[in-house]
Order: sequence, then structure tokens, then C-alpha cells
Amino acid sequence: MYQVLARKYRPKIFDEIAGQDNIVQTLKNAVIHDRIAHAYIFSGTRGVGKTSIARILAKSINCENGPTINPCGVCSACVQIQNGSSVDVIEIDGASNTGVDAIRDLKENIIYLPQSFKYKIYIIDEVHMLSNSAFNALLKTLEEPPAHAKFIFATTELHKVPETILSRCQRFNFKRIPTDIIYRKLKEIAAAEDISVTDENLMIMASLADGSVRDSLTTFDTIISYFGKDIKEDISPVLGLTVKAAIVDLTYAIFKKDYEASIKLAKEIHDSGADIRQFIKQLAFYIRNILIIKLKYKDLINDMTDEEINALIPLAGQKHSEELLDMIDILLNSDTKYQKISSPSLTLELTLFRLINIPPKHNVTELINKIDKFISLKTNPAENPKMEGKTGKFNLNDEALTPPPPAFDSSFALRQPLPKTAAPAPAQTDRQVKIAPNDGNNTHGGSDEFFAHFDKIDEKLAQENGKQETNALIDDGIKANEAEKLDESIIMESIKDIFGKDIERIDRTKK
Ligand SMILES: [Zn+2]
Repeated sequence: MYQVLARKYRPKIFDEIAGQDNIVQTLKNAVIHDRIAHAYIFSGTRGVGKTSIARILAKSINCENGPTINPCGVCSACVQIQNGSSVDVIEIDGASNTGVDAIRDLKENIIYLPQSFKYKIYIIDEVHMLSNSAFNALLKTLEEPPAHAKFIFATTELHKVPETILSRCQRFNFKRIPTDIIYRKLKEIAAAEDISVTDENLMIMASLADGSVRDSLTTFDTIISYFGKDIKEDISPVLGLTVKAAIVDLTYAIFKKDYEASIKLAKEIHDSGADIRQFIKQLAFYIRNILIIKLKYKDLINDMTDEEINALIPLAGQKHSEELLDMIDILLNSDTKYQKISSPSLTLELTLFRLINIPPKHNVTELINKIDKFISLKTNPAENPKMEGKTGKFNLNDEALTPPPPAFDSSFALRQPLPKTAAPAPAQTDRQVKIAPNDGNNTHGGSDEFFAHFDKIDEKLAQENGKQETNALIDDGIKANEAEKLDESIIMESIKDIFGKDIERIDRTKK
């Protein structure tokens, strides 16, 4: 007979519990040192291991070889608790109608010694659902529990449990299980079940589960019954999701500002029967991941395989992080913004139009001003005493000017100035150079802000790279007067290298 995966792979010992390390360790210590509380309350969303841990704890205490952190699993206590057939380990569902009756029975029977085990253990699931009278009955028992009784309460809504109950329990808050842990669990189970499934598909199931191992296994069951043991094609449509390939294609079209291609793709997605709201959410998450890559917090992405992450890197280089943020805002607000439109496909089209028409975050005038300011400071260091030693800190990878390429090293500018292969930069005499007035007192001129800005970026980059190494390099660079090497042409070249077209426009405005 087929047993559903969630049941078949329900953890039987502490070490099989995924993603709740602190709780497991605390409970193990309690068992080892024989300091098991008379009442526990486990709170957390569904499918994160509350009931599993409750049963394991019950076994640990009652196992014939116990108390032990490794219940044998074969003695009658272990077997009965595992099957839920023990008379001494009583599971009560607070949500069911029998809740009140069960608590009345509990109150009457708790005084009797356990029939065959060391302890009577009451596991009450969804304890917050008990009625007031049930809570009152329970409270009386909790105030003076017999030595042979233990309570384990589980709830998904801790705030609904009366304070009087909570104050008599040891509390454990169960976390949502991180997607990568669920992913690994699914992978193990796939191997054990001899199921051939792609990493991408496992990742889809893991990220849909929203922290619940049980949910991911239920999804896996659905997928297995649909595809059998060979799960190679994208499972998204079966789960009401849009295939990842469509999201990738559409993102490329949006980034290229190709309105026609975007609309075509949107139509295809709509025609495929996808839920447009769900799709917009998926797209928002995809762009969120691009932003994360851009900000170099790769570890925060937990719903993609390494290959998928690598595919995002070129996209991350194309947009300013603020533009990406704007795009996410547009996507997340599209629902409210277009709520009067009953046509989902029109909502999607309008949203795409807005995504494509986001104004670029840097404007050319601002850029020219910045370069002007820098050149003026560079050519007239006397204008600003702060300049000495500061030049070395000028970072070509300025976030405000341009998105840094993902693997860009903040010390890049000091270590390897770009070769001067392309056209030379305009001589500064050709340009209108604004020089901060030097009245003898105002030694900073208008450059304070300028330096503060670059200092901030240097600091941020140093933090991001977590390296004092960077600072050391910058300092060394300053000492070695590396700064001298950073002449205007290199700066222009570097900016041009990163910026492309916009710089050409600057060149043209000069002529
Ligand atoms: Zn045992």
C-alpha cells in the first residue's frame, strides 16, 4: 500500500528533525540531564515539526531504554507511541469537537498512574482552539500536575493561548524551515524513492512550501502521481505556476525595453492558462533575486539553484539597484493599482508598460557635473587640501554612477587601472570646469558632499566584502601614491567601459 511521503518520512528520532537545531539541542539536554519540564508549548506554523518533536520527546522519556535522546524505536513504548496507539500517550486535537470532552476525561484520569509506561503524556494539538471552559479545566491540572504526567501543547497561534497557561509552560518557537534545507530533504527522499527529478523542480517544490516540510512532501506526492518516477519537465504548470523559462524570457524583453516581445510573451503566458496574479508575484520574486545578486548578498537567495543564480548575473549588471527596486514596487502594487480592471491580461500589459518605462536613475547632467567636480579637484588639489590622499579612494565602482558588475573588486581601481586603449578622454580644458571658490576659509569648497559620498561607498563596499584587506589596499595605495595613476583618461575610460552609450552622449555634448 502506498504511504504518503509526509508520513513515511516523518522524523522518528531527534537527529532526523530538519531546521530546528536549537530546540532539538535544548530538549536533548533536558533528557540527558533529566530536567524535563512538566509542560511544554510548541508554537509555529504548520508542518515545521511540532508534533513530530512532541512524539519523539514522548518516546525519549518512555522508551524502555530511556530516558534517552535516541529512543530505540523497537520497544513496545516506542512502537505504540509511533503508531499513536498507546494508552499512556494521549493525543488530543484541540480543534475537534471532542476537545471539551477530552479535557474533561483528562482531568478525571490524569490522577491515575500510567498503565504501562513511566509517564502519562498529553499531547494537545492546536491548543489555542480549546474553549474557555476547557482552558479552565486544563489550568487546574497544570497548577498541580501529578509527578507522572507531562504535557506537550502545540499551536499555530500562540497569541490565542491564555497567559495563565503560557506562564506554566516552557515555550519553544519553531522557525519556518529554510528553503535550502527543505530542498536537501526532498533530494534525499527522491534518492531513497528512486525518483529521477531535476534540481530545478525540487527547488520549485521547496520554495512553494513556505517553510513547511510537510507541505513540500504533499506537493511531491502530487507531482509523483502526475509524472511518475521520471520528473524531467518543468512541473510549474501542474502547480499553477508559470514555467521559469517564460519568466526569464520576459525579464530579458523588459530589460531590453522590447515592448512588442514583452506583450507577445505576456499573451502566451495568459493563453497558457497561468494565474496572472501568481505570475506577477513570481516575476517580482525573480527581479528581487536579480537585485540581491546586484547587492552581492547571494546567500539570501534560497529558491534558486547555483546555475539559475549564475544566469542572473548578466541581468544584474544591466540595471541600477534603484531601478530594480522600482520594478519590484510596480509589480507588487499592480494588484491594487489596477483593481478596477477586470481583465488580468490588461493588468499585465499595463504593468509591463510601466516596467519598461521606468526612467533611468542616473541622468547625464548629474554625471557630467560629478566628473567636472572630480576633474577640477584633481587638477587643482590646492583648491581642496582634503584632496591629498583622497584621490586614492576614488572608486570607479561608484554605485551612484553605475551598477557594479557582480564580481567587481572594490580595490580594482587601485590595483589595475584600465588600459588606455580606446579614444582618449577629453582634455579638461575643453570643458566648463566648475571650481569651488577658495576664499581661504572655506577649504572644502563644494566637495564635502562629494567626498562623503565616495567615503560612504568605500565603507559600504568594504563592509560588503567583509575585508579589512580592502582598506589596507586602499591605504597602501595612498601611501604608494598610486593615486597619481588615476588620471582623467583612465577615469573616463573606466566609466565609459561600465556605462557605454551614456558616456558617448557626454562626449557628443562636449563637441
Ligand atoms: Zn524504545
